[in-house]
Parts: sequence; C-alpha cells; structure tokens
Amino acid sequence: MAAIELAGIEKRFGESHAVRGVDLAIASGEFVVILGPSGCGKSTLLRMIAGLEAVSAGTVSLDGVPMNGVEPGRRGCAMVFQNYALYPHMTVAENIGYGLRVAGVPKREREARVRSTAAMLDIETLLDRRPAALSGGQRQRVAMGRAMIRNPRVFLFDEPLSNLDAILRQQMRGEIKRLHRELRTTSVFVTHDQVEAMGMADRLVVMNAGRVEQVGPPADVFRRPASRFVAGFIGAPRMNLIDAAVTAEGTLAVGGWRPCDGLRFRAAAGRAVHLGVRPDALAPMPPAGGGPVFTADLVEDLGTEIHVHARGEGIDLILQRHADAPPIDTSFAVAIPPRAVHLFDAETGLRIE
Ligand code: ATP
Repeated sequence: MAAIELAGIEKRFGESHAVRGVDLAIASGEFVVILGPSGCGKSTLLRMIAGLEAVSAGTVSLDGVPMNGVEPGRRGCAMVFQNYALYPHMTVAENIGYGLRVAGVPKREREARVRSTAAMLDIETLLDRRPAALSGGQRQRVAMGRAMIRNPRVFLFDEPLSNLDAILRQQMRGEIKRLHRELRTTSVFVTHDQVEAMGMADRLVVMNAGRVEQVGPPADVFRRPASRFVAGFIGAPRMNLIDAAVTAEGTLAVGGWRPCDGLRFRAAAGRAVHLGVRPDALAPMPPAGGGPVFTADLVEDLGTEIHVHARGEGIDLILQRHADAPPIDTSFAVAIPPRAVHLFDAETGLRIE
C-alpha cells in the first residue's frame, strides 16, 4: 500500500477547467471517499491518480515518488469501474486471473490465487461462468477480484456500486469496507451518493466545480460544514438554508423574525448570511410569538421518520421528525435551538460560525 500526494493538480479539457488546484495527502492504508455532484471533476481526479488521464499541472506522487509520465500499468493502482469492464468471452476465473497471466505468473500459482481471491469474495462457485450469466452484484465482485488479485498498492473505485439496486449497494458497501479492514490497501472511492460516502469514508473529500470544498472525517464534515455548498450537499433531508442577516449588534434576523433573540453572533455582525439548520433540529411549537407561521404542505412518512415540508412568509422548511413524535398541527411556528445554528456568508458561501 502507498501514500498518495496530490499537489496543485489542474485538468483542462480545451476550454473546460475540470479540476482546479487540488492539494490532497492520503495516508497509506486510508479509505478516502471523494464526493460531489455530477461533473465536479471527481472521476477526472481519480483517473489522474491512475495515470489514465495526464495532469495539466501539478504532481501526483505515490510514496513520495512523482508519477507524472509513469504509465498506468507501472503505478501499482487497480481501478474498479461502474461498468465492471469484464471480458465477455472469458470465464470468471479467466477474468480474475487475466492480470496475472499477462504478467507471466505460472498457471498453478495463478489458479491458486484465483481460488483464494474468489473465496474472499464468496464467488468460488461461479468461476466457470461467463459475465453474461452473472447478476450485477456478482459481476461487481468479479471486477473486485480482478483488482485484488494483483495486490495493488492502491485501489481506485469509480462509482463501482451505481448500477446495483439499493439493497445490493448496501451489502457491497459493507463488503468493500470489510475487505479494506482485512487488506488495508490505500483506497480512493468516488461517488455522488452521500449516504455511501458517509458510511464508507475514513476521510471525506467534498468537491464542487473542480475544487475541494472540505476534507475531514464524515462526522466532522456533517457537524461543521465549511461552506453552504457542503451544508446543502451532506445530510438527507438536506439542511434548511434561509436568507438572513446579522445586525450590527450580532442579532440574527430573518426579516422581522429574531429566531435566537438574546443571543449574539458577533463574528457575523453586520453581514448578510445564510442561516443553516438541520431538519431534525427544528422544533415545532404553537404559533404564539412573533415568528412566522408555517403551513405543512407535504408530509412524507418514511416509516422510521417523517419529513414535513412547510412554508411560511416566503420561507420553505423541511422538518424531520421521529415516527413516534406527536403529530404536528397544520399551522405551527418553529424554534431554532442556538446550538443548531450554522451561519454562512451570503456572498462567499463560507462558514462564519
Ligand atoms: P460524474 O459523477 O457525472 O461522473 P464527475 O464529477 O466524475 O461526474 P468528471 O467526469 O470528472 O466529473 O468531469 C468533470 C468535467 O470535465 C465535466 O464538465 C466533464 O464534462 C469534463 N470532462 C471529463 N472528461 C472529459 C473529456 N475527455 N473531454 C472533455 N471534457 C471532459
């Protein structure tokens, strides 16, 4: 396994600037997930680590050795793709053992390694089948096996679970993490699915428009999003983000409403802000005080939790309630607990407090 270092990485495709100034150090044995919306540059970044795409500027290093110009096959990275990229005319055993055959590993050793790899992935009974006779989940395991058998220094996963149904995705998530605990191979996993990212990452890298917005353990990123973008992207249902201002004295103001009256947000004094509040932190209450009255216009009962979509005085909110919580009246006010307040600068989108 190897440490990966990205320094000042840029990628341009003609006019389009896909990756902009990315610096990132990944420790040996770490499982890092790159998360971001479609088109943010995460696959391109992964492909530059693999050497499948040349960098426009910057340096990719593995264990301190610059890899610019080194062929993909000589980097020791194994890539697992969304579309599996299996050879249709080969059996499962031949697909898994292909890399060893190309490398000239003798047949007996190859067969033994194919068997032990297949055993780790629980696909020993499928070794004689061809890809067309496998389910999506089985194909994904074969693709994993083909990557694992070469004992790579680094695993690179490019949305490997996107073609699987929800139950299988969850199962494969667990299996990939279990394999990582056993093998401890440095892994970079790209996804646009924030649940997958939160569940799998030792460290999360959130990307937007070619840049890294935040890096950290998933819980830290969730609790203290560094920007409005991260706040809105991580967490389901998404964080409520409300146009607000902080007065010169530090009082939070949403129009005429003072949701945390008596409290001072001094770091944000005098600024236009976006007030962020997680849906589970909003507390409904009888419409008595001066705050806006919200009307529920959609209630989604998801079994263990209930999402209430509400609107009042031009503000849209989502409240997340436990299924056992008492039902909410159609019209209600909300309290915002001060410790649930996130403030982002309205202009830069960056976290203030
Ligand atoms: P997705 O989740 O949809 O795969 P992504 O975050 O992985 O998206 P990339 O595939 O890295 O995004 O693409 C980043 C940007 O670079 C996009 O705007 C894309 O159109 C552009 N791009 C990627 N590959 C090429 C290419 N070979 N030629 C031109 N533009 C490209």
